[in-house]
Amino acid sequence: MNESQGFVVWFTGLSGAGKSTLAERLAPILRERGRKVEVLDGDVVRTNLSKGLGFSKEDRDTNIRRIGFVANLLARNGVAVITAAISPYREVRDEVRRLVEGDGSVFVEVYAAATLEECEARDVKGLYAEARAGKRPGFTGIDDPYEPPLAPEVVCHTGKESVEECLARIVRYLESRGLIPVAAEVRS
Ligand code: ADP
Repeated sequence: MNESQGFVVWFTGLSGAGKSTLAERLAPILRERGRKVEVLDGDVVRTNLSKGLGFSKEDRDTNIRRIGFVANLLARNGVAVITAAISPYREVRDEVRRLVEGDGSVFVEVYAAATLEECEARDVKGLYAEARAGKRPGFTGIDDPYEPPLAPEVVCHTGKESVEECLARIVRYLESRGLIPVAAEVRS
């Protein structure tokens, strides 16, 4: 166990796949295990750090590079960073991975692998209905691509599994990598 080893849990997946939900639920678990945690949520980042950016490929890549830049700064100072942005393009995700790993932190890509059908049926924010009505051109999964990761550290079938099942799999992975103590090891 290396409690000062910084790491980034990088959620990727379609809108509505469950990235924010899992990120928000994972954060307190990591805190209970003694880690300092920061969450960089895509929707929140777009209202400050990336305010003004749109959804062209160039702007999406800029958004992800910014999140990656901040995540890396935090992780290399021992923080457990959780990011929750669609991050649809494989190349820029891999670029962020190289940045983080190159600075000595651990990059844990978690694929929130709900299908388009599952996300659209859920349509938590009503965005798919708007995209289908042509009100949101360039919407990921509808008329903009989503490139699934080829070798993610963890896959969560968020359209079929419960939040608890998904969290348990992520926590087990982090434990197996020695990034957090197993629950029994946690001192009260
Ligand atoms: P995203 O951040 O990927 O856009 P959200 O987290 O905002 O997605 O929305 C996901 C929705 O799916 C939430 O309403 C959440 O309660 C629900 N949900 C159901 N099962 C899961 C699961 N296994 N993991 C994450 N979210 C789930």
